[in-house]
This record gives sequence, C-alpha cells and structure tokens, in this order.
Amino acid sequence: MTKPAPIDLRSDTVTRPDPQMSAAMASAEVGDDVLDHDPTMRALEDKVAQLLGTAAALWVPSGTMGNLIALSLHLRRGDRFLAPRGAHVLTHELGSAAWLAGGMPEPLDCDAGPGRPSPAAVRANADGGGPYFDLRTTLLCLENTHNGAGGTVIPPHEHAQLAAAARDGGLRVHLDGARIWNASIALGVPPAALTVGVDTVQTCLSKGLGAPVGSVVAGNADFVTEARRMRKMLGGGVRQGGVLAAAGLVALERIDSLAEDHRNAALLAEGLAELGWAVDTPQTNIVLAAVPDVRLALARLRAVGVLAAAMGGKIRFVTHRDVTKADIEEALRRIRG
Ligand SMILES: *Cc1c(COP(=O)(O)O)cnc(C)c1O
Repeated sequence: MTKPAPIDLRSDTVTRPDPQMSAAMASAEVGDDVLDHDPTMRALEDKVAQLLGTAAALWVPSGTMGNLIALSLHLRRGDRFLAPRGAHVLTHELGSAAWLAGGMPEPLDCDAGPGRPSPAAVRANADGGGPYFDLRTTLLCLENTHNGAGGTVIPPHEHAQLAAAARDGGLRVHLDGARIWNASIALGVPPAALTVGVDTVQTCLSKGLGAPVGSVVAGNADFVTEARRMRKMLGGGVRQGGVLAAAGLVALERIDSLAEDHRNAALLAEGLAELGWAVDTPQTNIVLAAVPDVRLALARLRAVGVLAAAMGGKIRFVTHRDVTKADIEEALRRIRG
C-alpha cells in the first residue's frame, strides 16, 4: 500500500497555482518592467495601492525585500527602530534590518496581548531627550497579523493609537503586513483601515492568497520612486514581470476565501485541544501548540503524515487554500492514531 500524501501545514506559502492562476500567468500582457514598467505590474501595483489606501506601490519578489527596502529608506546608519518582540524583521530576516539597512533593533514587549505592544510602550521607547550620544530612535515597525505570536491581529483603533504614539514620539511607521489580508478578514474591516497613520507597508501575495511569487511595498509617490531604485540595487528588478503580477491579480480576488482558512484553523485547534494539546485559540490561520520537545513532536507528526514547523519554541500549523476541511479532519485522525 502506498503511503498517503502528507498534509502540509508548515506554511501558507506551500500553495500551488491553480489552473485559473496558471492561465492568467500564461496569457499576461507583458513588457520590460525595468525599462518601461510592465503593464500588468502597473495594474497590480495600482490595485494594491488602492486596497491599502496608499498613493503608490511597488511589486517586489519577496516580503523580506519589501521590508528591507522600507527599512533602508527610513533608517540612517545606527538609527534605533522599535518592533514587537518576535517580529519577523527581528527574527526571520537574517538580521538584514541591521546588516543591510543599518538599524539598531529594539524589541518592544507585547504588553497589550500576544503580538501587540501598547501605545505606552511605544511612547516610553521613543527618544527621551537624553545626551547627544544616545541612540536616535526614528522608526516603529508594526506587524499585523503577527506571525510569531500565532497570527494575532491588531484591531483598527489600537493600530491607530500605536501609530499616533509613534508620531507623537517623532517616529515614522512601517507596517509589515505580510498577512494584512488575514487581519482584514478576521476583523471585518477593509485593509486600508489597518494602514492608517503608517508611512509604508509591505504585504505578501504569496501566502494565504496563493500567488507563487510576489510581495508589494507601498507608500507615497516619493517613497516608491526611491524604492524602485533600491529594488534594482538589490537585484529585484525583473523584466517581463507581468507573468508574476498576473498571478498576484488573481490572488487579490481571493481575499474573502481566507475566512475558510480561519475556520479550518479553529477546527484544528479545537481538535488538538480535545486530544489534550496545549494550543492557543487562533485568531486567523495560524495555530501554535506548546510541546515539551519540538523536534520530537515534529518528527512524530511527520511519521503520521502531518507536516508542521517550529516557531519560537512551539509547533506552528498554518492553514491555507490547498488544505480543505476534510484534510484538517484527516490530519486530526492521523494525529489521534
Ligand atoms: C513571510 C513573512 C515575511 C517575509 O516574506 P518572504 O516573502 O518570505 O520574504 C515578512 N513578514 C512576515 C510577518 C511574514 O510572515
């Protein structure tokens, strides 16, 4: 008997383009994006800017590059920046915020809840009028949803208070909105309600929305002009990028279907809790489970045909468009066995 295919819950990045997306890619109108601005790239960037409520936007190959471009343009060498403890820019981007963008990272405690620093924490960490040799603090980098905290959301009023606290402290604000689409669906608000008061925002098309490649970094027109130069410097200028942007445009039609991923995550968490697992109640599509030995637990899961990943000392399961409710039920059956 052949082994059943594993159920892959390592990340929402494992999705494959479906026939509709592949067809859109195959028939995309294209040009040389470095020379002329590819027409499908332009359409995608306009669409994302409109959804995020920014003046302009720029396609980039990855979220990591989007964050790096924004931080590089915001920070001077040695500037201190604030980010919630466990933020992706602090822990999962190889130190590029320091090594390439030149920032001095300062993690903020999540004193308002998982993944959520309070406005008071932002105020307390903005520049305090110390001597000239103190670090200069110039940027707050928020993350919504917060990946490491388990896909937790910051609601619009709280986001606005954080942005206002940053502004009062003389800080700019960058939002790592890799999964802003999930936050938007979970909160029932448009994505632009979650970018109020930010200078720049990065978002991924290659996660829950299912595009094979692509993120977008957005802000005002001057920022995007500079971002285009820096993208080229980093080797991220692509030629007939419309092939990839076409996938992004199809991905953007699928924002509403993230609700299904959230329901599946809730189902998985309930099932695991019934089996005695220590799980956090998911707010979006990420389920974190505390286990005594992460390595051992991952190996055991793999042995029964369920793939998960390690995240901050816990096990992370992520639901996505390539797993159905039936797959989640099957995963629970396999784990129970
Ligand atoms: C995935 C992710 C990124 C980086 O995106 P890549 O496309 O993998 O480089 C940045 N921030 C958060 C919160 C993420 O989850």
